Amino acid sequence: MTPFSLIVPAFEEAERLPHTLEVLKGASALLDRGVEILVVDDGSSDRTAEVAAACEGVRVIRLPENRGKGVAVSAGVRAASHELIAFTDADCPYDLTALTPMFAAIEAGDCDIAIGSRELADSEVNLGYGWMRRFSGQIFSYLTWLAIGLPFRDSQCGLKAFRADTARKLFAMRTIEGFGFDFEILAAALNQGERVQRFPVRLTHSDDSRIRLIRDSLQMARDLLRVRRALRRRAYDFQPDDRTEHPCPLCGDADFEPVVAKDGFRMVACRGCGLWYLNPMPSEARLGSLYEQEYFANADSLSAGYEDYATRGEDFREVFAHRLAALPPEVEGGRLLDVGAGFGYLLDAAEGKFSERWAVERSPDAVEALQGKGTVCRGTLAEVELPNSYFDVVSLQDCLEHFRDPREALLRIREVLRPGGRVILVTPNTDSLLAKLQRRSWVSLKFPEHVVLFQPGTLKRILEETGFIIETRTAAGQYARLDFLVSRVLSGYPRLASLAQASVAKLGGAHLRFWVGSGSLQVVASGALASVAPPERPSAD
Ligand SMILES: [Zn+2]
Repeated sequence: MTPFSLIVPAFEEAERLPHTLEVLKGASALLDRGVEILVVDDGSSDRTAEVAAACEGVRVIRLPENRGKGVAVSAGVRAASHELIAFTDADCPYDLTALTPMFAAIEAGDCDIAIGSRELADSEVNLGYGWMRRFSGQIFSYLTWLAIGLPFRDSQCGLKAFRADTARKLFAMRTIEGFGFDFEILAAALNQGERVQRFPVRLTHSDDSRIRLIRDSLQMARDLLRVRRALRRRAYDFQPDDRTEHPCPLCGDADFEPVVAKDGFRMVACRGCGLWYLNPMPSEARLGSLYEQEYFANADSLSAGYEDYATRGEDFREVFAHRLAALPPEVEGGRLLDVGAGFGYLLDAAEGKFSERWAVERSPDAVEALQGKGTVCRGTLAEVELPNSYFDVVSLQDCLEHFRDPREALLRIREVLRPGGRVILVTPNTDSLLAKLQRRSWVSLKFPEHVVLFQPGTLKRILEETGFIIETRTAAGQYARLDFLVSRVLSGYPRLASLAQASVAKLGGAHLRFWVGSGSLQVVASGALASVAPPERPSAD
């Protein structure tokens, strides 16, 4: 029979762990399948990890800090090596023979997840279970139904079994660190169409000492609301991978709130600094492939790239001329570098105003179009060779949001700028009115093309931490044709958009052009004269 991995999250369990592990081993042997016992020490200050490691045949994962049962079980799921996974509590309150029918149902394909359920008629749970517990348990199950629609009366039972691939997928979606992870995993499972089946359990002893009724109830209520919000944002509708958690690329914090899931990707807001970023973060190779294909002539430009960048040259040249006017006069006549230069419309707009024009561009199509407009470096900013302390102006037009590691990009730009040089950048603003009105259909939620998104606070922070001083911050605008505007404003309603575009064309207004605020942030910043030592960078995966 298929062996299984048994995950035991443990916090300050040094004292009773040896006994628990003996019981677990004995009980697992009765199941007649191989077992791998994984104790996850959730940042205990006692000797939990040492005690567990001393026990023969037990694998120990040690988390550096105490973050909660949800984080601990997730770490176990990632490390588990068998095709079946179960988890239980460190005081081993349930008779593990209940796992036999649970695993059998999973193996027979009757369900993907098998959960213990204390309220089933065949369950035996009457051991010292106070009325207070039972009453609060019933209220809680009613609340989980009310708030997030869970049909299970007992989402919190500490005995659950999964197919390993299902567990890895669901735990990669987890955002709740503490006890609330149980109902979040079940909510995500139902959202993903996984089949959940309930099984009776037998409580061998009851020790609820770890749960503080009032304080934990409040936290549970907060977590319920959090999951409810995430469900409404459809934040469990994505395909996670099972890599380790991706910390915030700006502050390194691992705690986040899901903002939106779309097209198979999930964007989250960092709880530490407010940066929005894709988590899981797509690989550099996955992002690179975006720019290989029809990026600048994409029929589906709402999901990636531009509809027909080549024909919008006139608009863009004017837009860029307008933006370049924000630079102070002392940089005029100097050397300009445009990162993510596209077809070179900014270089066109800068003609005659700078002594040298350089471009960094990774898309082969665009590199073609850039020929003859200046010095063209093909590749990513990290790949290309650029002279240090050389440029008077570096421009990033709708570009910073494409970097998996925007800090690294800005640090590199700081290096190639001359002392006192300027960076001029435009990037979407998650605090803009348009972002708030359009919500899910906001045009800047293009995944995986946009991997990070800023607002004034996070943009200021990243610039300051990479050695820049902001001189001016304005709302960016652009010239746009009426039919383009119509398509963007109605981007969430494709049928209505094409109807409106057709009407505009009929009325002869398609070529009318307007200067409109895009809601994006435009910043001119100077490289600080004194070199600023960048703070420790968070480690990416
Ligand atoms: Zn952050």
